[in-house]
Amino acid sequence: MADSTSQLPRRGLMFILSSPSGTGKTTIARKLLAEVDGLGLSVSVTTRPKRPGEVEGKDYIFVDQAKFDEMVEAGEFLEWAVVFGNSYGTPKAQIKAGLKAGEDFLFDIDWQGTQQLYQRMEVDVVRVFLLPPSIEELEHRLRSRGTDSEDVIRGRMDRARFEISHWDGYDYVVINDDIEACYHKVLTILEAERMKRARQVGLVDFTRKLMS
Ligand code: 5GP
Repeated sequence: MADSTSQLPRRGLMFILSSPSGTGKTTIARKLLAEVDGLGLSVSVTTRPKRPGEVEGKDYIFVDQAKFDEMVEAGEFLEWAVVFGNSYGTPKAQIKAGLKAGEDFLFDIDWQGTQQLYQRMEVDVVRVFLLPPSIEELEHRLRSRGTDSEDVIRGRMDRARFEISHWDGYDYVVINDDIEACYHKVLTILEAERMKRARQVGLVDFTRKLMS
């Protein structure tokens, strides 16, 4: 996805994708990571147990609570939060170095982490929230995943309503009624944000040459 503008030296951005579970966020995040140049995933640290199929260091860095608390104490997180009983945090080192080098990062974090990153690094943060087309459709999607009990589904729906209540803490809100269309909308947001004048530190030299 190279164009002449994105080849100019640029500040990296932190592209945050949040949504209640069942809204298609994982599909969209995977597609972005596979298809967009210069976009890496911010791999979080978590205390929640590894799920089948998850890979250490790729999906999450899995640690116990004592190690997580140690990392908090040592100031190793850009943000951290407790989400549904487990701790999650964004490690600082990789992100700060990458942003400096003009790399962009995709963040799959909740509204609490989004608020913290925005307070800390406002200019580099782009906040995108995905919504389901209706609460009935969300329930249908959660049920069609398979084998969850009625209690688990009810718990997920309660959490989804809670997460949706934070929609107004985001710069962009996209309703996912069609996964392809939603993906293209999210990609358009990323492309536009990359071209923001303030992010393109190479523009001063580039335009000077154009005008000479
Ligand atoms: P899961 O355990 O299903 O992968 O993620 C549960 C929730 O934690 C999701 O809403 C996800 O966006 C959020 N999450 C994952 N990593 C982080 C993180 O580093 N910080 C924060 N604040 N939330 C996270």
